[in-house]
Amino acid sequence: MIALPFSRPADFEQCVSCEAPGEGHWFVFRGDQLLVEMGPLERPSDDLRVRARPAWARLPLQKNHNWLGSSALRCLYLGLLNGTQCWAAELPKDATAPAGMSWEGLRTLFTVLDDAHFALAGRALQLVDWDRTHQFCGRCGTPTEPKANERVRVCPACKLSAYPRVAPAVMALVTRKTQLLLARSPHFPPGMYSALAGFAEPGESLEQCLAREVGEEVGVEIANTRYFASQSWPFPHSLMIAFVCDWVSGEIKRQETEIEEAKWFDVLQLPKLPSKISIARKLIDAVVEEMRGNTNDV
Ligand SMILES: [Zn+2]
Repeated sequence: MIALPFSRPADFEQCVSCEAPGEGHWFVFRGDQLLVEMGPLERPSDDLRVRARPAWARLPLQKNHNWLGSSALRCLYLGLLNGTQCWAAELPKDATAPAGMSWEGLRTLFTVLDDAHFALAGRALQLVDWDRTHQFCGRCGTPTEPKANERVRVCPACKLSAYPRVAPAVMALVTRKTQLLLARSPHFPPGMYSALAGFAEPGESLEQCLAREVGEEVGVEIANTRYFASQSWPFPHSLMIAFVCDWVSGEIKRQETEIEEAKWFDVLQLPKLPSKISIARKLIDAVVEEMRGNTNDV
């Protein structure tokens, strides 16, 4: 199995309620920023365009369950990591960080925070978001209530249940001989290209979704779809399911609203690619390695 950021740590046990709150790791959010204790900022190279990153970051480990006082908007028990309790909480948008701590986005904390903590931060972010957005019944508007033994909020009036949502999205890396079809979305950093991606619609399979997305976004026909891997993606609650597929026919004709540019790139001349935090990069790297291996054989 391919190890990807945000995968459930092997020694994590999911629980919904805690009988004896005690010492625990705390995942405290303000919006989508996590509260961490942070080491000094370091620039990975002399290039001033490269953003400085913290040398290390740690989650608060607290013995007292009430350390946040009365300011927390919500508090959720996540479960046990290697026997230690894990808690998620949300503070108001204007909350200031306690002395020696700061608020950081998850992307900044990739490889800076411990891998298991980073993965659970992704889970915590999604659960906090779900809890915040399901306080009222979607059918009748009554305030919902959490269930003690299950991760669900239930409407006491009409019994509608709201479980945490996961939105499946497919990613397609289209290949043609030694070329990859990569595209730019308008919100990508300058110069960066990635594989195509899109959300599954109600009433379609992943295979149908792939064919539709590729057709809509770049106008080419694909076949021979192979599953690669999947990744939980907490921005805000996706499950990315990645595939490799072969080009069959059609010239690139981009969907102008969603695709800024789409091109065939030779594996030996690739553009700037997404960060290693994402499955997109793992997918592209794996296919490139395989293609370069094949190129060397001939
Ligand atoms: Zn209701």
